[in-house]
Amino acid sequence: MQQQEQAEVAGRSVDVRARERQGSTLLEDASAQFRAAAAHLGLDPGLQQVLETPEREMSVALPIEMDDGRIAVFQGYRVQHSRLRGPAKGGIRYHPSVDLDEVRGLAALMTWKCSLLDLPYGGGKGGVNCDPSLLSAGELARITRAYATAMLPIIGSRVDVPAPDVNTDEQVMAWFLDAVETQTGVFDPAVVTGKPLALGGIPGRGEATGRGVALITMEMLKRRGIALEDARIAVQGFGKVGGHTVRTLADAGCRIVAISDVSGGLYNPKGLDIPRIVAHTRNHPRGLLEGYPGEDAEPIGAAELLTVDCDVVIPAALEGQITTANAGDIRAPIIVEAANGPTTGEADRILEDRGITVVPDILANAGGVVVSYFEWIQGLQGTKWTLEDVRARLDRMMLDAFEAVIQRAEAEDVSLRLAAYLIAVGRVAETAALRRTAG
Ligand code: GLU
Repeated sequence: MQQQEQAEVAGRSVDVRARERQGSTLLEDASAQFRAAAAHLGLDPGLQQVLETPEREMSVALPIEMDDGRIAVFQGYRVQHSRLRGPAKGGIRYHPSVDLDEVRGLAALMTWKCSLLDLPYGGGKGGVNCDPSLLSAGELARITRAYATAMLPIIGSRVDVPAPDVNTDEQVMAWFLDAVETQTGVFDPAVVTGKPLALGGIPGRGEATGRGVALITMEMLKRRGIALEDARIAVQGFGKVGGHTVRTLADAGCRIVAISDVSGGLYNPKGLDIPRIVAHTRNHPRGLLEGYPGEDAEPIGAAELLTVDCDVVIPAALEGQITTANAGDIRAPIIVEAANGPTTGEADRILEDRGITVVPDILANAGGVVVSYFEWIQGLQGTKWTLEDVRARLDRMMLDAFEAVIQRAEAEDVSLRLAAYLIAVGRVAETAALRRTAG
């Protein structure tokens, strides 16, 4: 209702109902995944409570002057789930589905992701409930500056370091940085990552998540004895993450049989012409697949894409895409989670029972935050990394984490998700216990 009112105040005629989701919420699923790991590790109940409860939450109202002169109030959030292993770290999302519970769940995922990759970070997430497709650049800039100003008391390069997420990009990070530095009067590029190069960004941050997803996918194929040229892959989402994932896999010789974005999808069981599709999206005013001349591809829906006959399905859009409604129909033997929380808890159990391997989000999509870490170091030290440095270190860290998860899963005979959580939760638990040990 609040979202409805917001749209009306803004004078827009869009339906911004919260997304309809089947079954459990992202927060419930994230908590259940954590509890399964905590039980397996035999964590003390008090310690378990410490690790499950978000450390700090901020909810703010952002009154913005819209281009037509009216005032609209947007709701913004930042949740610092944990700062036990370092500053909170995680993106800022602009989407009509954003609410406190969603941000809580996403913040917890960041804690486990950063721990799994052994980064010196806790986990956090932020968001503003808005629909960026209906906002002008000026309105987005004002929302971002208001959000950064409101968050000033709880962010900082040693406190909480935001970054891009769904619908936020380098430009949003530039506005965020400028708002912070204008308020504090202190030059501090490490207060946010995912910045443009000219403002202290790092080469390779934009491609990082997709590169990591592609790398893990190729590694998984190798383990299954599937040659890259024979691999058929379907990717849901063709934005920052899905786009780079598709390009990297196609360059490596894989056949991309289906892709989709908010405007629709394309399917060709023999493989899509990715360079031609990329050229089309570059010419589209909003970078979409919409209007692709279709003689070499059939249209396909984003939901239908998940169940096509292929070797790997990569959900790279939003959470809650693989549910009890479609988990039984998935034909690919491997799922690589590029989005955060794309599989609901119940769906995960169905997939496990069916013998489908799921490479979990906290491993598969960690490339973005890994390169954010390099950018943060660069900002703190005033140094410069090259693209070669970034790629080499990213690839090594992703492959090391992948290997550790595979080994743990084999040693304990558990799923890759549980294995990833056992490593991640175990590390944070150790830190928490040391901090709380009586003298
Ligand atoms: N939003 C990305 C994620 O979900 C990156 C976060 C970061 O770089 O801090 O992992």
